[in-house]
Amino acid sequence: MGKNKVLTEAAAERVDCVVIGAGVVGLAVARALAQAGREVVVLEAEGAIGTGISSRNSEVIHAGMYYPAGSRKARLCVAGNRMLRDYAASRGVPHKVTGKLIVATSEAEAAQLDGILEKGRANGVEGLAPVSAAQAREMEPDLDCVAALLSPATGIIDTHGLMLSLLGEAEGRGAALALKSPVTGGRPTDSGMLLAVGGAEPATLLARRVVLAAGLAAPRLGAALGLANVPPAHLCKGNYFTLSGRTPFSRLIYPVPVAAGLGVHLTLDLGGRARFGPDVEWVTEEDYRVDARRGDSFYAAIRRYWPGLPDGALEPAYAGIRPKITAEGEPAADFLIHGPAETGLPGVAALYGIESPGLTSSLAIAKHVGELLA
Ligand SMILES: Cc1cc2nc3c(=O)[nH]c(=O)nc-3n(C[C@H](O)[C@H](O)[C@H](O)COP(=O)(O)OP(=O)(O)OC[C@H]3O[C@@H](n4cnc5c(N)ncnc54)[C@H](O)[C@@H]3O)c2cc1C
Repeated sequence: MGKNKVLTEAAAERVDCVVIGAGVVGLAVARALAQAGREVVVLEAEGAIGTGISSRNSEVIHAGMYYPAGSRKARLCVAGNRMLRDYAASRGVPHKVTGKLIVATSEAEAAQLDGILEKGRANGVEGLAPVSAAQAREMEPDLDCVAALLSPATGIIDTHGLMLSLLGEAEGRGAALALKSPVTGGRPTDSGMLLAVGGAEPATLLARRVVLAAGLAAPRLGAALGLANVPPAHLCKGNYFTLSGRTPFSRLIYPVPVAAGLGVHLTLDLGGRARFGPDVEWVTEEDYRVDARRGDSFYAAIRRYWPGLPDGALEPAYAGIRPKITAEGEPAADFLIHGPAETGLPGVAALYGIESPGLTSSLAIAKHVGELLA
């Protein structure tokens, strides 16, 4: 089958598996299904892979200490951390296990660290340990805090390099990627899911198995395809600012988490440059512009743990949008991973609310989806 041939057939063409969305999760799922011997077509609306949430995040390999014990986020993040580090090391995907400090800047926040430590231990997070303010300052002399937690298993990864590697392995097992091929609708039939594919050469596919991995668009598309139990979609933007000049830090520095996010933290890229974010801004439409005026709140948040942040050192950078399935003020949701029992359709799985730590969890999510559709 030529890569795009299947999508140029006028009549419905039968395929075994369709993965909708070529972000890091869809590509990891495609690889897992292809490695299980399935015929896989990945349909991506845009002209390149990974232009959605997967290219607008912190690129952190999380360790898994924030999520309630037994939740999917906890299980898939802790498993995914190990899988991703092993994968990146064996495939030469650029990454670095930098370690991270979660810092408390008041006694009240120090009490929150105890809760994070407890959760982390319950979740099986590797090596998580309390450190005193003096020990933290020894590690990072510019840091100001009253107590901290050290997570040695946290790191950073080149997400695009990861996606290219996943795609290469999927294609090596016969998977086909169709770019500029948005799924515009469809309906379940007795012999599979009929999918309408738009783009320059519209086509109709009949897929025995479908995995909806469309990020922000997943709830809308799930409803359009007639899946059961589709959650609502809410958008929560996270803005980033970069630090001009050299960073004095060698580890990632996180404050204690805030509602809907992890707090304005310092992450490093693989070139050693520092950026801060993401903050929390609930929005109603996809708009990735960063309002420079948000910088004021960044200075205030960062100076709580880095008083030496120079004036004028922050520059507006980029923004990402979290695919929330609960609204502002509601309790945080777990990853919602529906197999045939929940979508109400044999062979159909759907992924909703795959916000952070979705990048870290991508390989573990893919394994789980493979099992759901086995
Ligand atoms: C601000 C922010 C920071 C984050 N930081 C981290 C972090 O440090 N560590 C971590 O582990 N996780 C992090 N995450 C989470 C992580 O980025 C996501 O969980 C992950 O990228 C989701 O990947 P995805 O493949 O599900 O979605 P996406 O990357 O959005 O991929 C979905 C794809 O589906 C395509 N699509 C949409 N509609 C259609 C259609 N109709 N037909 C065909 N294709 C379609 C889109 O074009 C897109 O390419 C962060 C998220 C945000 C928002």
